[in-house]
Amino acid sequence: MMSKKIFSVAVDGPSGAGKSTLSKAVAAELGIVYVDTGAIYRTIGYYVFCKEIDPKDAPAVIAILPELDIQMRYGDDGLQRMYLNGEDVSTQIRLPQISMYASAVSAIPEVREFLLEMQRELARRSSVIMDGRDIGTVVLPEADVKIFLTAAAEIRAQRRAKELEERGTPTPFEEVLRDIQQRDWNDSHRAAAPLRQAEDAVLVDTSELTFDESKLKLLEVIKGRVGA
Ligand code: C5P
Repeated sequence: MMSKKIFSVAVDGPSGAGKSTLSKAVAAELGIVYVDTGAIYRTIGYYVFCKEIDPKDAPAVIAILPELDIQMRYGDDGLQRMYLNGEDVSTQIRLPQISMYASAVSAIPEVREFLLEMQRELARRSSVIMDGRDIGTVVLPEADVKIFLTAAAEIRAQRRAKELEERGTPTPFEEVLRDIQQRDWNDSHRAAAPLRQAEDAVLVDTSELTFDESKLKLLEVIKGRVGA
């Protein structure tokens, strides 16, 4: 049994490090809520894509923010679903071309600011494991546990290629690797909340770990900090 107090776990790291699958599994094991913040950026990216706006055109992206009603709901299966102006867009936001849109819009400070309170509110309501790029550094600087999850780019690309194939959108390995490297660069070089390991985060490199080993490692770190 975990302690009664609400606690939060921040999981940051580059694309394809296994943040979402691992966080989801850990949330189920601990009976806490999993919040996928990348899905929120993807939802904005998807809207910008639908509107045929250049995602790097900051003024144009900022101008559409007031049109957005973004809701995060949990289905009967316990999985997070994203609603954009009332429509369930959970599948569309996973299309490979939306990744770059999400990455581009996430570099705009006004977009990050727009989402900040929504993310913090989720962590105030219940115990969460929240994954993203700046959770431990910006969104929840007071998180009880901070984990920086990473793996070698080639390994991450292999995993992502397998996942895309399973989703019915097979993509060549070279293309997936290039996309991952490009997003790593974008995410860590942007001025607004760049991807970096918080000083008090525990580094977990999953390059040589299986899924089960990685999950055990995370549970060990979390239980060590918030009490078992
Ligand atoms: O994690 P995921 O790949 O779904 O995130 C999509 C994009 O959203 C990332 O490439 C990153 O640029 C951005 N993102 C972010 N901050 C977060 C979560 C995601 O900038 N907290």
